[in-house]
Amino acid sequence: MNGKIVVLPDSLTSKIAAGEVIERPASILKELLENALDAGATDISIELEKGGCGSIKVIDNGSGIERSDVPLAFERFATSKIYDFDDIYKVRSYGFRGEALPSIAAISRVEMVTKKHSSLSGTRVIIEAGEVKTVVDAGCPVGTSVSVSHIFDPVPVRKKFLKTETTEQGYCMDVITRTALSHPEVRIRVAARGREILNIPSARDLSERISLVLGTDFTNHTLPVKGNKGNITLTGFASKPEYSRSGAKQMYYYVNKRFVRDYLLNHAVMTAYRRVIAAKRYPAVIMFVDLPTEDVDVNVHPAKMEVRFRNPREIYDIVAGTLVTALSNVAPVISGGNDRVMPEGYGERVQEALKRYTISSGSGKLFFNKDVREAGKTGSAHGKMQENDRDALQLQRLPEGSYVEREIAKKGQNFADLEFIGQIAGTYLVFSSSISLILVDQHAAHERVLFEKLKKGSPAPGEKMIGQRLLIPEVVSLSPREFAALMESIKILEDTGIEVELFGEKTVIVKSVPAMLSHIEPKELLFEILEEFTETEQSLGLEERREKIFALLACKGAVKANQKLSESEVAMLCRDLDATPFSSTCPHGRPVFISFKVGELERMFKRK
Ligand code: ADP
Ligand code: MG
Repeated sequence: MNGKIVVLPDSLTSKIAAGEVIERPASILKELLENALDAGATDISIELEKGGCGSIKVIDNGSGIERSDVPLAFERFATSKIYDFDDIYKVRSYGFRGEALPSIAAISRVEMVTKKHSSLSGTRVIIEAGEVKTVVDAGCPVGTSVSVSHIFDPVPVRKKFLKTETTEQGYCMDVITRTALSHPEVRIRVAARGREILNIPSARDLSERISLVLGTDFTNHTLPVKGNKGNITLTGFASKPEYSRSGAKQMYYYVNKRFVRDYLLNHAVMTAYRRVIAAKRYPAVIMFVDLPTEDVDVNVHPAKMEVRFRNPREIYDIVAGTLVTALSNVAPVISGGNDRVMPEGYGERVQEALKRYTISSGSGKLFFNKDVREAGKTGSAHGKMQENDRDALQLQRLPEGSYVEREIAKKGQNFADLEFIGQIAGTYLVFSSSISLILVDQHAAHERVLFEKLKKGSPAPGEKMIGQRLLIPEVVSLSPREFAALMESIKILEDTGIEVELFGEKTVIVKSVPAMLSHIEPKELLFEILEEFTETEQSLGLEERREKIFALLACKGAVKANQKLSESEVAMLCRDLDATPFSSTCPHGRPVFISFKVGELERMFKRK
């Protein structure tokens, strides 16, 4: 290849896969970029007007064209890249058919300005609808600038096949992306409508270029891969198992730096990922296969996007094999989705937690509505009391906010409709719905239920709430401090249904307790309340003190952590939660439940 452009003889052109190459602006751009790269350019500027539908200009700092060769470059089958047919199997250049420039010139107006390093002056040539209009001297830098305008003017029907300018510009950007990826060393700038939209400096290596072109997200989620067999080498980047895409757009294949769409390469890649990513998901890969030019036929398709390998099996094995090895070495990553960066040791902590919390009991669907009364009769003491209280409660509007609440509001669903799966760590109740997994803290949930019942059940301050009479009243002797606290709080105690009678010096008789707390030792209950009271700030208003006592009573009365609940008790709790406002937190503000949408689970399991 000496740079001289010659017209190929008919005997040769008939063997070249010729045909229509100019489909749309992006095809023009692709040919111009390939010519610039073939000319050894290290700096390429692209200007697009109207998404490439108006005009396309490519300026390079490559070799330039000799004045005498310029008109020849626009003749069919005139090329400087091959001289006889066998050269096709030797070419490393993108072009070799000598067809692009004449094809482009036939359907547009082309203005080329070019200068070789050795020439004193440059050349300007203007070609309209395939006819050379002007060839003149021009002062210009070394290199070539080709400006294509009036695209498809000579064949207006072709314009009808164009999509919107935005879409056509998108195709042009795809071409630029592919070129930029295979030529990290080339500086590329792009302007559209007079504004610079891309400026990628010459990069030291591929990963730097990839970060700039495809974003750091791509580099963060991919691994470098390398493999070789004989004189075939594979280099590139492949996404880690936890990263996948919904489409095949981020799968780039190059053979000898030529971007190709190749079934074989794609099949090899998908095979390697088959057990690693979900069906209908695609990895992100950039694969460069390099092999001797005689082992690959690029003369298959006019746009040269398809190739034929002499030894397809070898190519397949090296690609699939290299990827399988690379992927098998990747440690699994557990993260909360959204590609958030997880703190150090997060993975281990999750593993630890999973070991500790294993589901201890499982069951099918629970009995609800009609069986609930039955459950109440056979349930524990406090279950029975809730059953009595329940009828008095009205279903209230749940506050907005948490996911389950929104879910419930939307679907008219409630906790009682969830499927109970079991209890973990004796503390958390596990439920599922068709759209989420829900963990309920049994203590926090019950606490909120009791607290709201106390509040709702208690009459206006001063009025007594009917407590449950104790069969045998309890005699309690108090310390002077406790006695003083009692004197202060006796009114509030009565409001909650705790009836206390003075018996003697610092001795009292507890005659009744709130119904829901009848399973607690009255003495213990009284002591705790008094303690809470002595600690309560004196400045607190009556209402606040009452709330504090309610919270204490609710906490005392609620089922504890590490307590096995029967299914009927769980069913009861669900019903109560459904009738309780503010059911997303306990009176102390801790969450009552945590839910995971299926979508979130899918993200955690890297299905999405
Ligand atoms: P091909 O690339 O297949 O040879 P083209 O029609 O694309 O055919 O180009 C014809 C010839 O014009 C090329 O062989 C090359 O010698 C010359 N040429 C085209 N563009 C450039 C350029 N940007 N820089 C230097 N030479 C070019
Ligand atoms: Mg070309």
